[in-house]
Amino acid sequence: MADQAKIPVVVNGAAGKMGREVVKAVSQAEDMELVGAVDRNPNVVGEDVGIIAGCGELEVPLLNDLQSVLVLATQQEIQGVMVDFTHPNSVYENVRSAIAYGVRPVIGTTGLTDDQLKDLTEFAEKASTGALVVPNFSIGMVLLQQAALQAAQYFENVEIIELHHNQKADAPSGTAIKTAQMLAELGKTYNPPQVEEKEHLAGARGSVSEENINIHSVRLPGLLAHQEVLFGAPGQLYTLRHDTSDRASFMPGVLLAVRKVTELRTLIYGLEKIL
Ligand code: NAD
Repeated sequence: MADQAKIPVVVNGAAGKMGREVVKAVSQAEDMELVGAVDRNPNVVGEDVGIIAGCGELEVPLLNDLQSVLVLATQQEIQGVMVDFTHPNSVYENVRSAIAYGVRPVIGTTGLTDDQLKDLTEFAEKASTGALVVPNFSIGMVLLQQAALQAAQYFENVEIIELHHNQKADAPSGTAIKTAQMLAELGKTYNPPQVEEKEHLAGARGSVSEENINIHSVRLPGLLAHQEVLFGAPGQLYTLRHDTSDRASFMPGVLLAVRKVTELRTLIYGLEKIL
């Protein structure tokens, strides 16, 4: 593929666990060019991002100023894409900056609130810029959610357990929230009360989503990203479970999102919408 046809990609949070995988995946994708890398970790700023990611020198220095790197993505023949795996505290501002520069955001960072998502959707619409917010890039998780949607037509009782490593800042996971929202779209009321419940320890029954689905969050070293959806009915339990054991599992979804976002003119939420 000719160089000029490549999608220019900026990775934000490039020194992080996900960011380093994205750097590797983008630098190996024939139709993409890594044009910039950002991270606010002062220990790595100025270093070559390929060395940080462990895939050999890429001649792309890690910088700590997102805006100056976004400019690099606008100086190419085709519109650039920013992949963001940073922190729930900064993701909203990062997306606004990318859209303002005409760079299409692909957001893996979780923790955006409903209000922030609504605001970003309106902003992307006004700017006529595509954006993708994907709480889980794993194609296996999309399949689990689709199976859960099917099961929910036949079960009234459902709870979600999500399990992650203990460096994860937000709870419950964006994927668990999204799964509950998808089940809510069926318009059903779940978990009709059977008894008057009393928690002797606050949070014992997990958090309860708007859809009345209990979500339980486990945080332990040794875990990466896992989710169970449990459907119960008299005499039977139907459990759906997805386990991620390596961050490489997210990369086919990330690369697909980078390609698809270039065709969009609005903000889309969820990998299932582009599969
Ligand atoms: P991490 O802590 O390993 O990496 C985050 C990196 O971002 C760090 O290097 C940090 O220095 C940098 N950073 C933080 N704030 C920044 C800012 N304002 N500007 C630039 N750099 C900044 O975390 P991680 O495990 O890579 O996860 C990052 C995010 O991605 C989390 O929100 C996590 O929940 C989410 N995540 C999403 C998926 C998915 O499929 N969507 C999968 C895994 C993780």
